[in-house]
Amino acid sequence: MSAKPVKQAQDSAAPNCGRNTGVIFDIKRYATHDGPGIRTTVFFKGCPLACGWCHNPESLVMEPQGVYHRERCIGCGECIRACPQGALALTPGGVVTAAARCRHCGTCARACPAEAREFAGWCESVEHLMKMIEKDVLFYDQSGGGVTFSGGEPLRQPDFLLELLEACGRRAIHRAVDTTGYADTDLLMAVARRTDLFLYDLKLMDPVKHQNYTGVSNRQILDNLQRLARERAVITIRIPLIPGINDDAANIDATGDFVAALPGVRQVDILPYHNSARHKYQKFGVARRLGEIAPPLKEQIDRVARQLARFGLKINIGG
Ligand code: SF4
Ligand code: SF4
Repeated sequence: MSAKPVKQAQDSAAPNCGRNTGVIFDIKRYATHDGPGIRTTVFFKGCPLACGWCHNPESLVMEPQGVYHRERCIGCGECIRACPQGALALTPGGVVTAAARCRHCGTCARACPAEAREFAGWCESVEHLMKMIEKDVLFYDQSGGGVTFSGGEPLRQPDFLLELLEACGRRAIHRAVDTTGYADTDLLMAVARRTDLFLYDLKLMDPVKHQNYTGVSNRQILDNLQRLARERAVITIRIPLIPGINDDAANIDATGDFVAALPGVRQVDILPYHNSARHKYQKFGVARRLGEIAPPLKEQIDRVARQLARFGLKINIGG
């Protein structure tokens, strides 16, 4: 039985993908930081937030984003021959793409011997993705692992997500959903009925700061988290630790207080900021509106961990 379409329409920013497909930008096999055991993590494209410290700036918009490096192109025409849509042509200025024909499949990037074409994001079908996920069932079973749907925000592509969750459920594969929590509550509950574990991000408790740094209010995120906890969903809280933004004592106390009051929720992962994504901002033309942020020192991380542990929470540093 396939998942019924939900009220919140699938984001239609990728109209060329077709039915039973979604837009993803990465698949990580043998992941060990996105839930228990060995996992396959699937990264959905598109996010309703725009956190100033985002590690995956290529996840922000739903559309697959192509990057063509004219200076690397050797004019071999491999991409043109490989394109199943006949969308490419060689011109004196390099290879040009007929946007109306392109179906964002990424075939041209894979065919290019000079790495002149790159794609962040491609259309993926439920069927094809399940074949990839199922390759590692043995590892999941032996390690207590499974699959994690992350992003971006996986709930931005609800029909695709629900189909995948149901398909994994039919094969008894453990399912985790890594979410911002910024989603329609009915949709979140529909996801919860098909999910074994939520990795739920909590960034800032102050509503004004949350709005300023992520672009959205935290009201719905907090309400949804309380609702999920009341429904006895299994939840691990994840706090990206961003020095100077959310590591102050007041925010950590407010976070500890809130989480400690959630029924059944005790596990908190602290995810220290790192700046390994710096080059991606340049490549995909995303502005770094907060400028350089220094990663937290060990003493800062330990201080936050101690402060949260005082609320009776179980703290893990890293995923
Ligand atoms: S992404 Fe696919 S359809 Fe688009 S130009 Fe490349 S090969 Fe052709
Ligand atoms: S395959 Fe790569 S190097 Fe060859 S023409 Fe296409 S973009 Fe240029």
